[in-house]
Amino acid sequence: MLKGTNIHKSFGDLEVLKGIDLEVAPSEVVVLVGVSGSGKSTLLRCFNFLERINEGTIEIDGHLVNPKNDKLSKIRAEVGMVFQHFNLFPHMTVLENVIEAPMIVKKMKKADAITLAKQLLEKVGLSDKADVYPSKLSGGQKQRVAIARSLAMEPKVLLFDEPTSALDPELVGEVLAVMQQLAQEGMTMIVVTHEMKFARNVANRIIMLDEGRIIESADPETFFGNPSHERTRQFIQLVD
Ligand code: ATP
Ligand code: MG
Repeated sequence: MLKGTNIHKSFGDLEVLKGIDLEVAPSEVVVLVGVSGSGKSTLLRCFNFLERINEGTIEIDGHLVNPKNDKLSKIRAEVGMVFQHFNLFPHMTVLENVIEAPMIVKKMKKADAITLAKQLLEKVGLSDKADVYPSKLSGGQKQRVAIARSLAMEPKVLLFDEPTSALDPELVGEVLAVMQQLAQEGMTMIVVTHEMKFARNVANRIIMLDEGRIIESADPETFFGNPSHERTRQFIQLVD
C-alpha cells in the first residue's frame, strides 16, 4: 500500500534518514517509535511529500511517485496526515474545516461534502459540534475533528505524528479510541506515538528508528518481549 525504498533525507550536512526500507501492507497498523531526533517525523513527512527525499523511492498503492510529474495535492489526498497540534482552520466551523479539502482539492459538490463530513463527525463522536468554532473545543475534540478532516479526503493511508502528545492525559483516551476504531475498520496507518499500550494492543508491527535507521521491526509481542537490539531494550525500559 505504501512502500519506501532506500529513503535518504538530509538537512544540509545532517543526514537524518540513512536508507529506510519500509513497506506497509493494506490495513496494516505500524507504530513507529524511537528517541527524540531519530527521524520519525521526517520519515512521515517524506511519505506525504512535505519533505523531498534525496535518494530512494516511494510507491503508493503500486504507483511509483514522481514528485515532478504527480500533483502533490493528489499525493497528499492519498496519504493523509494528522499532526500533534491539530492545525485546524480557526476561522472556520468544524463542518467547514472538514468539507474544505474535498471541495477544493477533489472538487466535490458542497452538498456531497457536507453529507460526507456529517458521517465522519458522527464516526469521531462530534455530530453535535458541526457548527462550532475550534476555539470552543477541547484538545481531544480538536484532534478528532482533525482526524475527520483527514478522512474526508478518503486517503489510502493515514499517518499520525504524536497525535496525543499535546493533550491533557484525560483526553488521550478518546483520541486513541477513534484511532483504534479506524484500525479495526481496516485503515492502513503509520502511527508515531509514545502510547505503548496502544502499540501493544493495536499495532500489527512496531518499528524502532535509531539515528535514521530501522533497527527493529517486529510484532508487538516480540518487540516488547524479545527485542533483538540493545537500543530497543533500553527504549522499552524508558517508556514502559
Ligand atoms: P521527536 O521525537 O522529538 O519528534 P523525531 O524522531 O520526530 O523527534 P525529527 O523531527 O524527524 O525527529 O528530526 C530528526 C532530526 O532532523 C533532528 O536532528 C532535527 O533537528 C532535524 N530536522 C528536522 N527537520 C529539520 C529541518 N526542517 N531543518 C533542519 N533540520 C531538521
Ligand atoms: Mg517528531
